[in-house]
Amino acid sequence: MKLFFTILFIVMSLPSYGQSKKFDKILEKHDIKEYIKGIPSGDTESFWNAVWQNNDALDKLIKANEKKTDAYIAAHKEMYDASIYAKTYYNSLSRYDAKYITDTLLMYIGAKQVFSDCTIDIISDTDVNAFCAPDGQIFLTAPLIDELNANFTQLLGICVHEMAHFFLMHAFVSSYQTQRKYQINQAISAATSAVAVAANAYAQANGAVTNDSWDNVKQTINNLSIAAYDDAFGRFRYKYNREQEYEADIIAYRFLEWYGYDATLYLYALEKIALEDDKYYDKTSNHPKCSDRTALLRYMAEKYPLQ
Ligand SMILES: [Zn+2]
Repeated sequence: MKLFFTILFIVMSLPSYGQSKKFDKILEKHDIKEYIKGIPSGDTESFWNAVWQNNDALDKLIKANEKKTDAYIAAHKEMYDASIYAKTYYNSLSRYDAKYITDTLLMYIGAKQVFSDCTIDIISDTDVNAFCAPDGQIFLTAPLIDELNANFTQLLGICVHEMAHFFLMHAFVSSYQTQRKYQINQAISAATSAVAVAANAYAQANGAVTNDSWDNVKQTINNLSIAAYDDAFGRFRYKYNREQEYEADIIAYRFLEWYGYDATLYLYALEKIALEDDKYYDKTSNHPKCSDRTALLRYMAEKYPLQ
């Protein structure tokens, strides 16, 4: 009996077996700990090189670029359109003159060494938010600066998160993955439709069905292609997906740890920003909830500290 209670106690005190399994899987895929281990703190150029050179999703995109696959070309077109849209939209935002803050953040991130056109701007807005345009412009809203009391470590963490989206070309990668999925879905629905048509033709030839059945077949074909389209574009288009949010969070946290800052401060910043973000997504969306994001980082910090 005593053993039973001991076991029960151990089981109950664990964070949740299912959740830690899920987190381990995410970390196995996205943690950069092993790649940044030997890099001297502050050598940001080597840090970012290690991050992008060891990224599987980016690697796949680069290979697709070499082969100029159909999915790559379609994604490229989408990114081009998104960049034009972003340019017009972001140019209309009103920026604060805060060059000292934004230049300091850019310098600490080492952003210009990776991509010289990177910018950070503080803009007037009602939301506590930060986001990144597909061309490397990062925007922090004025209420975010107020909310974080302009705390440098927290702002740095938030900016690194956004930079990670940009440097790993998350928007492009997401668009490419969507296009690939769309094409695979199209191929599956074409194959399934062919089977439905063949089966019906056979049945009709044998007098088992009437002419009306052809309408059903056509309807099936329609539904299949619409489903493929919705599934592919409805959930992924232009939005960072769950994996990418986790990945950007992990990189931000590791960056602060590696630099010697108190990385747990990033959790507070994340709570401010992601909690607000939650409002824009419903339960069915492929965007992680704030509580899941902070839980993952707490788990990582406890189980796999950098030092
Ligand atoms: Zn993000």
